[in-house]
Amino acid sequence: NAFLSVRGLSHTYHTKNGETPALKDIHFDLFTGEFAAIIGPSGCGKSTLLELIAGLIPLQKGSLRYPFLNQPPSIGYMLQKDHLLEYRTIYKNIILGLEIQHRLTEKNLEYVQKLMRQYDIADFADSYPRELSGGMRQRAALIRTLALKPDFLLLDEPFSALDYQTRLDVSDDIAKIIRQSGVTTLLVTHDLSEAISISDRIIVLGKRPGHIRSIITIDFGSE
Ligand code: ADP
Ligand code: ADP
Repeated sequence: NAFLSVRGLSHTYHTKNGETPALKDIHFDLFTGEFAAIIGPSGCGKSTLLELIAGLIPLQKGSLRYPFLNQPPSIGYMLQKDHLLEYRTIYKNIILGLEIQHRLTEKNLEYVQKLMRQYDIADFADSYPRELSGGMRQRAALIRTLALKPDFLLLDEPFSALDYQTRLDVSDDIAKIIRQSGVTTLLVTHDLSEAISISDRIIVLGKRPGHIRSIITIDFGSE
């Protein structure tokens, strides 16, 4: 069952220097609960694709449909930078989204406590972001996102700011948290080995804008 169905999606940036085609005629489906990765070289349109899905830039051509949802999903978005606020403690960062959305209910705060315990960040609740390692910061950013109970998680190169060894540890760790949460996830990365190690399915975007070359399915069996 398709969770998201992308058809004929194209995007061109218009700037004073001219036109840059970023995506051309993209088609793919995402399935409910899967963790899919889109890989491709820098400049092939990965960020543009996520921004279109998130509604951060307007749709020019093509369609994005959620055939089984009555309304658009609530989307969680994670970027390369964790965007933690340095003057807030980790706990205060994690509840920031709930605060902004006026959703600081007892039930939601209990859920935050549960997430923080479950994912071993409770000990850092009163620390400030600068006191945490890069990997721990990304974990806090993920928990901040999950606190909003998204139906759909978009990850744009979430590990590329980390050094190589940290990235290996953290990406597995974060993928595990996402799998446990069961949320449908789309990761974009230029790192094939990262995609192989953490996703269920890989969609390869070609160098020419929007040229999908192949779709590889990786079966993890019962992990
Ligand atoms: P990726 O995430 O795969 O590196 P992007 O989606 O960032 O690719 O970019 C796709 C193409 O669109 C590139 O040629 C890039 O330079 C161009 N592009 C991206 N954002 C903008 C923008 N805001 N204005 C103009 N061109 C852009
Ligand atoms: P990515 O890591 O996805 O490749 P980039 O470093 O290419 O991202 O782009 C960073 C930011 O710059 C993005 O917000 C993107 O929209 C913007 N950008 C990228 N290419 C261009 C461009 N040619 N003209 C204007 N803005 C751009």
